[in-house]
Amino acid sequence: MITTAAYATVSALLPLAPHTIERRDPGPYEVLIDILYCGVCHSDIHQVRNQWGGSIYPMVPGHEIVGKIVKRGEDVIKWKIGDIVGVGYFIDSCHECDACADGEEQYCEKGMNTTFNGHERDGKTPTYGGYSTRITVNEDYVLRIPEGLPLERVAPLMCAGITVYSPLHRFGIKTNDNIAVVGLGGLGHMGVKIAGAMGAKVTVISHSPDKRADALALGAADFIATSEKDAFKVNAKRFDFILDTVSAKHDYNAYLSMLRRDGTMMLVGIPDPVLLSASSLVMQRLKLAGSLIGGIRETQEMLDFCAEHRVAADVEVIPIQKINEAYERILKSDVHYRFVIDMASLKDE
Ligand code: NAP
Ligand code: ZN
Repeated sequence: MITTAAYATVSALLPLAPHTIERRDPGPYEVLIDILYCGVCHSDIHQVRNQWGGSIYPMVPGHEIVGKIVKRGEDVIKWKIGDIVGVGYFIDSCHECDACADGEEQYCEKGMNTTFNGHERDGKTPTYGGYSTRITVNEDYVLRIPEGLPLERVAPLMCAGITVYSPLHRFGIKTNDNIAVVGLGGLGHMGVKIAGAMGAKVTVISHSPDKRADALALGAADFIATSEKDAFKVNAKRFDFILDTVSAKHDYNAYLSMLRRDGTMMLVGIPDPVLLSASSLVMQRLKLAGSLIGGIRETQEMLDFCAEHRVAADVEVIPIQKINEAYERILKSDVHYRFVIDMASLKDE
């Protein structure tokens, strides 16, 4: 076992604090990764604070990992020592079901094994995430980081990037499509960049009126502040596709009114439940859909797409000691546009 420094919380009500975990020496098909950077996703906060229920403590969050392979098991064929790699929201799945066979491991019928706040395939060994100095992972659940992008700006692609890329790509977003992204946070700003790289005309819909200049600088063609008078009325039936990345409860019915006939609203944000009126969909033959991260193959495709189009996250790099402050700022929608922990700030004993 390898004693590893981490940050953890022991209850939904307490801040994150220094903690020690054990990582195992890599088994035959595993690699040991020294973590360089880990992005801070709102899903970390939802789970630290037990907002989705069933949280497991102590919890070491973090699932936007970029690091370097420092050791490998004897049967590893994909990786060598020194490779720069990524780990996202899950570290294993059953390898056998239809979803796994289709490369959609995140929908594994037996349940994916999440990088943190979950268990390994044995159903009992807890998983600990990327707010730590190293991690041991099966070689098939590791991604190749393409060269040419700064690593701290790549880390958020491992969750925020793939979560928006997958539905945009599957929907077939193309040049001049008129789409909107709701919420300019970690996922939202990646949505603007990736949809833009696909050629779409992107409008940001935000409850923070002061983000207008940033939205346009990120490549958005237009900006709607929902706080403005009649914002929903003025923009009724305007878009074919809306990507909703909002983390807090908001009225889906209002946003659906901005879709044209046959339009689609794609939910990726996971806030508290909200009442949906059937007529919000029925009256314009609309579709309301959802999407969960992306599989390993698609995540690699997204990383290569981002390298080709020179797309990476706008980040604020922090030492891990600032993590609790960062959470408070994320909750105030004051993130520009992803916090990323520099793991050099955490030292092993
Ligand atoms: P984030 O950085 O905090 O961004 C969320 C944005 O939502 C905020 O910046 C804000 O944008 C907007 N917002 C916040 N409160 C709002 C309110 N009361 N009304 C309207 N808009 C509000 O969070 P994130 O890391 O991007 O994650 C967003 C959500 O996606 C979370 O629920 C997270 O758990 C979920 N998620 C889902 C997946 C998936 O696979 N589906 C993957 C990762 C994350 P404005 O200031 O522009 O309004
Ligand atoms: Zn995430």
